[in-house]
Amino acid sequence: MMRNKNKRREVLKMLSLGSAAGLFSATPFTAKAKQPEIPDYKKGLPPVKIKNVKAIATAPDGINLVVVKIETTEPGLYGLGCATFTQRAVAVVSAINGYMNEFCVGKDVDNIEDMWNSFYVSSYWRNGPVLNNAISGLDQALWDIKGKRANMPVYQLLGGKSRFAVDCYAHADGPNPGAVTEKVQELMSKGFRHIRIQMGGYGAVGSAQKAPDFKTAGFGYGNDNYMNENAYLKSVPKLFEAVRKACGDEVELLHDIHERVQPMNAINMIKQLEDYHPFFIEDPFSPENMEWFKQLRASTTVPIAMGELFNNINEFKMPMVWQWFDFIRVHVSQIGGITPAMKIARLGEWFNVRTAFHGPGDVSPVGHSAHAHLDLPIWNFGIQESVNFSEKLQTIFSGCPTMKDGYMYVNEVPGLGVDVNEKEAAKYPIGTKSNWQVRRNDGTIIRP
Ligand code: MG
Repeated sequence: MMRNKNKRREVLKMLSLGSAAGLFSATPFTAKAKQPEIPDYKKGLPPVKIKNVKAIATAPDGINLVVVKIETTEPGLYGLGCATFTQRAVAVVSAINGYMNEFCVGKDVDNIEDMWNSFYVSSYWRNGPVLNNAISGLDQALWDIKGKRANMPVYQLLGGKSRFAVDCYAHADGPNPGAVTEKVQELMSKGFRHIRIQMGGYGAVGSAQKAPDFKTAGFGYGNDNYMNENAYLKSVPKLFEAVRKACGDEVELLHDIHERVQPMNAINMIKQLEDYHPFFIEDPFSPENMEWFKQLRASTTVPIAMGELFNNINEFKMPMVWQWFDFIRVHVSQIGGITPAMKIARLGEWFNVRTAFHGPGDVSPVGHSAHAHLDLPIWNFGIQESVNFSEKLQTIFSGCPTMKDGYMYVNEVPGLGVDVNEKEAAKYPIGTKSNWQVRRNDGTIIRP
Protein backbone atom coordinates (compact mmCIF):
# COMPACT_ATOMS: atom_id res chain seq x y z
CA MET A 1 0.00 0.00 0.00
CA MET A 2 2.72 2.32 1.04
CA ARG A 3 4.69 1.43 -2.11
CA ASN A 4 1.72 2.30 -4.37
CA LYS A 5 1.23 5.62 -2.62
CA ASN A 6 4.89 6.48 -3.23
CA LYS A 7 4.58 5.45 -6.87
CA ARG A 8 1.52 7.69 -7.31
CA ARG A 9 3.44 10.59 -5.80
CA GLU A 10 6.30 10.01 -8.25
CA VAL A 11 3.88 9.98 -11.20
CA LEU A 12 2.17 13.19 -10.02
CA LYS A 13 5.57 14.84 -9.55
CA MET A 14 6.66 13.87 -13.06
CA LEU A 15 3.38 15.09 -14.53
CA SER A 16 3.61 18.42 -12.76
CA LEU A 17 7.24 18.92 -13.85
CA GLY A 18 6.30 17.94 -17.37
CA SER A 19 3.42 20.36 -17.49
CA ALA A 20 5.58 23.15 -16.09
CA ALA A 21 8.33 22.40 -18.58
CA GLY A 22 5.69 22.26 -21.26
CA LEU A 23 4.57 25.76 -20.41
CA PHE A 24 8.04 27.19 -20.96
CA SER A 25 9.20 25.04 -23.81
CA ALA A 26 6.23 24.66 -26.06
CA THR A 27 8.02 26.18 -29.03
CA PRO A 28 11.00 23.82 -29.32
CA PHE A 29 8.68 20.87 -29.74
CA THR A 30 6.76 22.57 -32.51
CA ALA A 31 9.71 22.55 -34.86
CA LYS A 32 8.35 24.81 -37.60
CA ALA A 33 7.10 27.62 -35.26
CA LYS A 34 8.13 31.09 -36.45
CA GLN A 35 10.80 32.78 -34.29
CA PRO A 36 9.74 36.24 -33.10
CA GLU A 37 11.97 38.93 -34.56
CA ILE A 38 14.53 40.28 -32.08
CA PRO A 39 14.33 44.08 -31.86
CA ASP A 40 17.56 45.97 -32.55
CA TYR A 41 17.91 47.19 -28.95
CA LYS A 42 18.09 43.59 -27.72
CA LYS A 43 20.78 42.52 -30.13
CA GLY A 44 23.63 44.44 -28.44
CA LEU A 45 26.74 45.59 -30.25
CA PRO A 46 29.38 43.36 -31.79
CA PRO A 47 32.87 43.76 -30.28
CA VAL A 48 35.10 46.36 -31.93
CA LYS A 49 38.86 46.61 -31.41
CA ILE A 50 41.30 49.46 -31.87
CA LYS A 51 43.30 49.07 -35.07
CA ASN A 52 45.41 52.21 -34.99
CA VAL A 53 45.86 55.42 -32.98
CA LYS A 54 47.54 58.44 -34.54
CA ALA A 55 47.98 62.17 -34.13
CA ILE A 56 46.72 64.68 -36.68
CA ALA A 57 48.57 67.97 -36.24
CA THR A 58 47.67 71.18 -38.03
CA ALA A 59 48.06 74.95 -37.64
CA PRO A 60 45.80 76.65 -40.21
CA ASP A 61 45.58 79.90 -38.23
CA GLY A 62 49.16 79.77 -36.93
CA ILE A 63 47.93 78.02 -33.74
CA ASN A 64 49.14 74.43 -33.27
CA LEU A 65 46.24 71.98 -32.94
CA VAL A 66 46.55 68.24 -32.24
CA VAL A 67 43.77 65.69 -32.69
CA VAL A 68 43.82 61.96 -31.84
CA LYS A 69 42.28 59.66 -34.42
CA ILE A 70 41.35 56.11 -33.35
CA GLU A 71 40.74 53.70 -36.22
CA THR A 72 38.86 50.47 -35.47
CA THR A 73 38.33 46.97 -36.81
CA GLU A 74 34.87 48.02 -38.00
CA PRO A 75 35.30 49.47 -41.50
CA GLY A 76 34.62 53.22 -41.57
CA LEU A 77 34.26 53.54 -37.78
CA TYR A 78 36.73 55.94 -36.16
CA GLY A 79 36.81 58.48 -33.37
CA LEU A 80 38.37 61.94 -32.95
CA GLY A 81 39.48 63.71 -29.77
CA CYS A 82 41.30 66.97 -29.02
CA ALA A 83 44.81 66.60 -27.55
CA THR A 84 45.99 70.15 -28.18
CA PHE A 85 48.84 71.59 -26.11
CA THR A 86 49.76 74.35 -28.49
CA GLN A 87 53.07 75.32 -26.81
CA ARG A 88 54.43 71.74 -26.87
CA ALA A 89 52.46 70.21 -29.75
CA VAL A 90 55.36 68.14 -31.13
CA ALA A 91 55.80 66.42 -27.74
CA VAL A 92 52.08 65.46 -27.70
CA VAL A 93 52.31 64.08 -31.25
CA SER A 94 55.28 61.97 -30.15
CA ALA A 95 53.40 60.66 -27.07
CA ILE A 96 50.44 59.64 -29.23
CA ASN A 97 52.33 58.04 -32.13
CA GLY A 98 55.19 56.64 -30.09
CA TYR A 99 53.42 55.29 -26.99
CA MET A 100 49.64 55.50 -27.19
CA ASN A 101 49.30 53.65 -30.48
CA GLU A 102 51.22 50.60 -29.29
CA PHE A 103 49.35 50.63 -25.94
CA CYS A 104 45.90 50.76 -27.53
CA VAL A 105 46.08 48.50 -30.61
CA GLY A 106 44.03 45.33 -30.16
CA LYS A 107 42.10 46.68 -27.16
CA ASP A 108 38.35 47.00 -26.94
CA VAL A 109 36.77 50.41 -27.74
CA ASP A 110 34.01 49.92 -25.17
CA ASN A 111 35.58 50.31 -21.75
CA ILE A 112 36.48 53.99 -21.66
CA GLU A 113 36.94 54.24 -17.88
CA ASP A 114 39.26 51.23 -17.87
CA MET A 115 41.23 52.48 -20.87
CA TRP A 116 41.60 55.90 -19.21
CA ASN A 117 42.94 54.43 -15.98
CA SER A 118 45.15 51.89 -17.74
CA PHE A 119 46.89 54.46 -19.88
CA TYR A 120 47.08 56.94 -16.98
CA VAL A 121 49.16 54.57 -14.83
CA SER A 122 50.99 52.86 -17.69
CA SER A 123 53.87 55.37 -17.54
CA TYR A 124 54.09 55.14 -13.71
CA TRP A 125 55.03 58.86 -13.58
CA ARG A 126 51.92 60.73 -14.59
CA ASN A 127 49.78 63.79 -14.08
CA GLY A 128 51.55 66.25 -16.31
CA PRO A 129 50.81 68.11 -19.50
CA VAL A 130 51.73 66.28 -22.75
CA LEU A 131 50.60 62.82 -21.52
CA ASN A 132 47.43 64.36 -20.09
CA ASN A 133 46.73 65.98 -23.45
CA ALA A 134 47.26 62.62 -25.18
CA ILE A 135 44.82 60.92 -22.75
CA SER A 136 42.31 63.73 -23.32
CA GLY A 137 42.39 63.02 -27.05
CA LEU A 138 42.07 59.28 -26.49
CA ASP A 139 39.13 59.70 -24.11
CA GLN A 140 37.21 62.08 -26.38
CA ALA A 141 37.84 59.84 -29.40
CA LEU A 142 36.47 56.81 -27.50
CA TRP A 143 33.34 58.80 -26.56
CA ASP A 144 33.01 59.81 -30.22
CA ILE A 145 33.13 56.13 -31.20
CA LYS A 146 30.66 55.16 -28.47
CA GLY A 147 28.22 57.80 -29.72
CA LYS A 148 28.59 56.59 -33.30
CA ARG A 149 28.00 52.98 -32.23
CA ALA A 150 24.97 53.91 -30.13
CA ASN A 151 23.70 56.12 -32.98
CA MET A 152 23.43 59.05 -30.56
CA PRO A 153 25.17 62.39 -29.96
CA VAL A 154 27.55 62.07 -27.00
CA TYR A 155 25.47 64.42 -24.78
CA GLN A 156 22.68 61.83 -24.92
CA LEU A 157 25.00 59.23 -23.41
CA LEU A 158 25.91 61.70 -20.64
CA GLY A 159 22.30 62.28 -19.59
CA GLY A 160 20.53 64.17 -22.39
CA LYS A 161 19.78 67.89 -22.51
CA SER A 162 19.30 70.03 -19.41
CA ARG A 163 18.98 73.12 -21.62
CA PHE A 164 18.12 73.82 -25.26
CA ALA A 165 21.59 75.19 -26.15
CA VAL A 166 24.85 76.35 -24.55
CA ASP A 167 24.98 79.98 -23.36
CA CYS A 168 28.39 81.44 -24.24
CA TYR A 169 30.57 84.43 -23.65
CA ALA A 170 32.60 86.17 -26.33
CA HIS A 171 35.78 88.26 -26.13
CA ALA A 172 35.99 92.04 -26.48
CA ASP A 173 39.61 93.21 -26.67
CA GLY A 174 41.02 96.57 -27.57
CA PRO A 175 43.83 99.03 -26.90
CA ASN A 176 41.63 101.48 -24.91
CA PRO A 177 38.22 101.62 -23.14
CA GLY A 178 36.56 103.21 -26.18
CA ALA A 179 37.66 100.45 -28.55
CA VAL A 180 36.60 97.73 -26.06
CA THR A 181 33.20 99.42 -25.59
CA GLU A 182 32.61 99.41 -29.36
CA LYS A 183 33.44 95.71 -29.50
CA VAL A 184 31.08 95.01 -26.59
CA GLN A 185 28.26 96.81 -28.39
CA GLU A 186 28.96 94.86 -31.57
CA LEU A 187 28.83 91.55 -29.69
CA MET A 188 25.63 92.60 -27.87
CA SER A 189 24.03 93.30 -31.25
CA LYS A 190 24.95 89.72 -32.25
CA GLY A 191 22.97 88.44 -29.26
CA PHE A 192 25.72 87.81 -26.67
CA ARG A 193 24.60 88.38 -23.08
CA HIS A 194 28.03 87.64 -21.57
CA ILE A 195 31.20 89.40 -22.73
CA ARG A 196 34.76 89.25 -21.45
CA ILE A 197 36.56 92.59 -21.54
CA GLN A 198 40.36 92.86 -21.84
CA MET A 199 42.67 95.71 -22.74
CA GLY A 200 46.11 95.40 -24.29
CA GLY A 201 46.43 91.62 -24.04
CA TYR A 202 46.41 89.54 -20.87
CA GLY A 203 47.50 91.62 -17.89
CA ALA A 204 47.90 94.59 -20.26
CA VAL A 205 50.98 92.90 -21.68
CA GLY A 206 52.51 95.10 -24.36
CA SER A 207 50.41 98.14 -23.38
CA ALA A 208 53.20 100.06 -21.65
CA GLN A 209 54.00 103.49 -23.04
CA LYS A 210 57.75 103.38 -22.52
CA ALA A 211 60.28 100.66 -23.29
CA PRO A 212 61.02 98.61 -20.16
CA ASP A 213 64.40 99.01 -18.48
CA PHE A 214 65.36 95.35 -19.06
CA LYS A 215 65.17 95.90 -22.83
CA THR A 216 67.31 99.05 -22.60
CA ALA A 217 69.81 97.12 -20.47
CA GLY A 218 69.91 94.31 -23.03
CA PHE A 219 68.58 91.73 -20.51
CA GLY A 220 66.42 88.77 -21.56
CA TYR A 221 65.63 87.76 -25.13
CA GLY A 222 64.37 89.59 -28.17
CA ASN A 223 60.78 88.38 -28.11
CA ASP A 224 60.20 88.74 -24.33
CA ASN A 225 57.09 90.66 -23.35
CA TYR A 226 56.79 93.34 -20.72
CA MET A 227 54.00 93.87 -18.23
CA ASN A 228 53.51 97.04 -16.20
CA GLU A 229 51.59 95.70 -13.21
CA ASN A 230 50.75 99.07 -11.73
CA ALA A 231 49.38 100.44 -15.02
CA TYR A 232 47.29 97.29 -15.46
CA LEU A 233 45.82 97.44 -11.94
CA LYS A 234 44.73 101.04 -12.45
CA SER A 235 43.34 100.43 -15.94
CA VAL A 236 40.85 97.63 -15.22
CA PRO A 237 38.39 99.52 -12.92
CA LYS A 238 38.42 102.37 -15.47
CA LEU A 239 37.63 99.90 -18.25
CA PHE A 240 34.69 98.45 -16.29
CA GLU A 241 33.42 101.96 -15.52
CA ALA A 242 33.53 103.01 -19.19
CA VAL A 243 31.84 99.83 -20.49
CA ARG A 244 29.10 99.89 -17.83
CA LYS A 245 28.40 103.56 -18.57
CA ALA A 246 28.09 102.99 -22.32
CA CYS A 247 26.48 99.52 -22.37
CA GLY A 248 24.22 99.52 -19.31
CA ASP A 249 23.65 97.08 -16.46
CA GLU A 250 22.07 94.21 -18.41
CA VAL A 251 25.14 92.80 -20.12
CA GLU A 252 27.25 90.42 -17.99
CA LEU A 253 30.91 91.44 -17.92
CA LEU A 254 33.83 89.10 -17.32
CA HIS A 255 37.57 89.68 -16.99
CA ASP A 256 40.68 87.47 -16.89
CA ILE A 257 43.56 88.61 -14.63
CA HIS A 258 45.62 85.75 -16.04
CA GLU A 259 47.45 85.20 -12.75
CA ARG A 260 50.05 87.84 -13.51
CA VAL A 261 49.84 90.23 -10.55
CA GLN A 262 50.83 89.96 -6.89
CA PRO A 263 48.05 88.22 -4.91
CA MET A 264 47.20 91.15 -2.59
CA ASN A 265 47.17 93.53 -5.56
CA ALA A 266 44.72 91.22 -7.33
CA ILE A 267 42.48 91.15 -4.24
CA ASN A 268 42.49 94.96 -3.97
CA MET A 269 41.65 95.36 -7.66
CA ILE A 270 38.79 92.84 -7.51
CA LYS A 271 37.31 94.76 -4.55
CA GLN A 272 37.29 97.90 -6.70
CA LEU A 273 35.28 96.05 -9.35
CA GLU A 274 32.39 95.23 -6.96
CA ASP A 275 30.36 98.29 -8.04
CA TYR A 276 30.36 97.05 -11.66
CA HIS A 277 28.96 93.60 -10.76
CA PRO A 278 31.25 91.33 -12.79
CA PHE A 279 29.79 87.96 -13.82
CA PHE A 280 33.15 86.53 -12.80
CA ILE A 281 36.80 87.46 -12.49
CA GLU A 282 39.09 84.74 -13.78
CA ASP A 283 42.48 83.43 -12.65
CA PRO A 284 43.29 85.90 -9.85
CA PHE A 285 46.35 83.86 -8.77
CA SER A 286 48.75 81.35 -10.29
CA PRO A 287 48.34 77.72 -9.12
CA GLU A 288 51.41 78.24 -6.88
CA ASN A 289 49.38 80.77 -4.83
CA MET A 290 46.26 78.76 -3.98
CA GLU A 291 46.25 79.60 -0.25
CA TRP A 292 45.50 83.23 -1.12
CA PHE A 293 41.93 82.25 -2.03
CA LYS A 294 41.08 82.19 1.67
CA GLN A 295 41.98 85.88 1.93
CA LEU A 296 40.23 86.68 -1.35
CA ARG A 297 36.95 85.06 -0.26
CA ALA A 298 37.09 86.91 3.08
CA SER A 299 37.67 90.23 1.27
CA THR A 300 35.10 90.31 -1.53
CA THR A 301 31.95 88.64 -2.85
CA VAL A 302 32.84 89.07 -6.55
CA PRO A 303 32.37 85.63 -8.23
CA ILE A 304 35.64 83.88 -9.09
CA ALA A 305 36.56 81.43 -11.90
CA MET A 306 39.70 79.30 -11.71
CA GLY A 307 41.37 76.11 -12.85
CA GLU A 308 42.51 76.19 -16.50
CA LEU A 309 46.13 75.43 -15.49
CA PHE A 310 45.23 72.48 -13.26
CA ASN A 311 46.61 69.14 -14.42
CA ASN A 312 44.67 66.73 -12.26
CA ILE A 313 41.06 66.56 -11.11
CA ASN A 314 42.27 66.29 -7.51
CA GLU A 315 43.43 69.90 -7.72
CA PHE A 316 39.79 70.95 -7.96
CA LYS A 317 38.58 68.87 -5.03
CA MET A 318 39.27 70.89 -1.88
CA PRO A 319 38.84 74.36 -3.44
CA MET A 320 35.36 73.22 -4.50
CA VAL A 321 34.57 71.71 -1.12
CA TRP A 322 35.74 74.95 0.54
CA GLN A 323 33.77 76.98 -2.03
CA TRP A 324 36.76 79.07 -3.04
CA PHE A 325 35.59 79.21 -6.66
CA ASP A 326 32.18 79.94 -8.17
CA PHE A 327 33.16 78.62 -11.62
CA ILE A 328 35.56 75.82 -12.58
CA ARG A 329 37.68 76.56 -15.66
CA VAL A 330 38.49 72.96 -16.57
CA HIS A 331 40.68 72.69 -19.69
CA VAL A 332 39.06 69.50 -20.97
CA SER A 333 41.82 68.79 -23.54
CA GLN A 334 44.41 68.84 -20.73
CA ILE A 335 42.62 67.40 -17.67
CA GLY A 336 42.09 64.04 -19.43
CA GLY A 337 38.98 64.48 -21.56
CA ILE A 338 35.25 64.01 -21.06
CA THR A 339 35.51 61.26 -18.40
CA PRO A 340 37.36 63.28 -15.71
CA ALA A 341 35.65 66.57 -16.69
CA MET A 342 32.29 64.93 -16.04
CA LYS A 343 33.47 63.78 -12.59
CA ILE A 344 34.57 67.32 -11.63
CA ALA A 345 31.35 68.83 -12.95
CA ARG A 346 29.23 66.38 -10.96
CA LEU A 347 31.22 67.12 -7.79
CA GLY A 348 30.49 70.82 -8.35
CA GLU A 349 26.76 70.11 -8.21
CA TRP A 350 27.06 69.20 -4.52
CA PHE A 351 28.75 72.50 -3.68
CA ASN A 352 26.87 74.78 -6.07
CA VAL A 353 30.01 75.42 -8.09
CA ARG A 354 29.22 75.93 -11.75
CA THR A 355 31.20 75.12 -14.89
CA ALA A 356 32.93 77.51 -17.29
CA PHE A 357 35.02 75.13 -19.40
CA HIS A 358 38.10 76.80 -20.88
CA GLY A 359 37.46 77.34 -24.59
CA PRO A 360 40.34 79.34 -26.12
CA GLY A 361 41.60 79.42 -29.72
CA ASP A 362 44.19 76.74 -28.93
CA VAL A 363 41.53 74.05 -28.64
CA SER A 364 40.48 72.26 -31.84
CA PRO A 365 36.84 72.28 -33.01
CA VAL A 366 36.65 68.65 -31.78
CA GLY A 367 37.54 69.95 -28.30
CA HIS A 368 35.00 72.80 -28.48
CA SER A 369 32.38 70.28 -29.48
CA ALA A 370 33.34 68.11 -26.48
CA HIS A 371 32.73 71.14 -24.22
CA ALA A 372 29.25 71.62 -25.63
CA HIS A 373 28.42 67.90 -25.23
CA LEU A 374 29.41 68.25 -21.56
CA ASP A 375 27.58 71.58 -21.12
CA LEU A 376 24.22 70.28 -22.37
CA PRO A 377 23.55 67.50 -19.82
CA ILE A 378 25.07 68.78 -16.55
CA TRP A 379 22.76 70.63 -14.17
CA ASN A 380 25.41 72.99 -12.76
CA PHE A 381 26.44 74.47 -16.10
CA GLY A 382 27.50 78.11 -15.75
CA ILE A 383 28.76 79.54 -19.03
CA GLN A 384 30.92 78.44 -21.98
CA GLU A 385 33.82 80.37 -23.52
CA SER A 386 33.31 80.51 -27.28
CA VAL A 387 35.55 81.21 -30.27
CA ASN A 388 35.01 81.97 -33.93
CA PHE A 389 36.00 79.15 -36.23
CA SER A 390 37.82 80.70 -39.20
CA GLU A 391 36.91 79.70 -42.75
CA LYS A 392 40.33 78.11 -43.15
CA LEU A 393 39.78 76.04 -40.00
CA GLN A 394 36.42 74.90 -41.34
CA THR A 395 38.00 73.60 -44.55
CA ILE A 396 39.79 71.10 -42.26
CA PHE A 397 37.12 70.49 -39.61
CA SER A 398 33.51 70.01 -40.69
CA GLY A 399 30.47 69.77 -38.44
CA CYS A 400 31.85 72.40 -36.03
CA PRO A 401 29.50 73.70 -33.32
CA THR A 402 27.55 76.76 -34.52
CA MET A 403 26.63 80.03 -32.78
CA LYS A 404 23.29 81.85 -32.80
CA ASP A 405 22.28 84.72 -30.50
CA GLY A 406 25.13 83.91 -28.12
CA TYR A 407 24.18 80.23 -27.88
CA MET A 408 26.31 77.33 -29.09
CA TYR A 409 24.64 74.41 -30.87
CA VAL A 410 26.22 71.02 -31.54
CA ASN A 411 26.01 69.13 -34.81
CA GLU A 412 23.13 66.75 -34.00
CA VAL A 413 24.67 63.54 -35.38
CA PRO A 414 26.02 60.44 -33.60
CA GLY A 415 29.27 61.02 -31.69
CA LEU A 416 30.89 64.43 -31.15
CA GLY A 417 29.76 65.60 -34.59
CA VAL A 418 33.08 66.93 -35.93
CA ASP A 419 35.07 65.37 -38.76
CA VAL A 420 38.55 66.10 -40.11
CA ASN A 421 39.93 66.35 -43.62
CA GLU A 422 43.43 64.94 -43.19
CA LYS A 423 44.65 66.08 -46.61
CA GLU A 424 43.69 69.69 -45.85
CA ALA A 425 45.15 69.44 -42.32
CA ALA A 426 48.52 68.35 -43.75
CA LYS A 427 48.79 71.63 -45.69
CA TYR A 428 49.42 73.55 -42.44
CA PRO A 429 52.31 72.02 -40.50
CA ILE A 430 52.72 72.85 -36.81
CA GLY A 431 55.63 74.87 -35.40
CA THR A 432 57.82 74.64 -32.31
CA LYS A 433 58.00 78.29 -31.21
CA SER A 434 56.09 79.62 -28.23
CA ASN A 435 56.29 83.08 -26.76
CA TRP A 436 54.94 83.11 -23.22
CA GLN A 437 57.80 84.90 -21.46
CA VAL A 438 56.57 88.03 -19.72
CA ARG A 439 58.89 90.15 -17.55
CA ARG A 440 58.69 92.99 -15.04
CA ASN A 441 60.47 96.29 -15.66
CA ASP A 442 63.68 94.92 -14.10
CA GLY A 443 63.48 91.76 -16.18
CA THR A 444 62.08 89.32 -13.58
CA ILE A 445 59.98 86.59 -15.20
CA ILE A 446 56.28 86.72 -14.24
CA ARG A 447 54.51 83.40 -13.75
CA PRO A 448 51.17 83.24 -15.53
MG1 MG B 1 42.21 82.30 -18.09
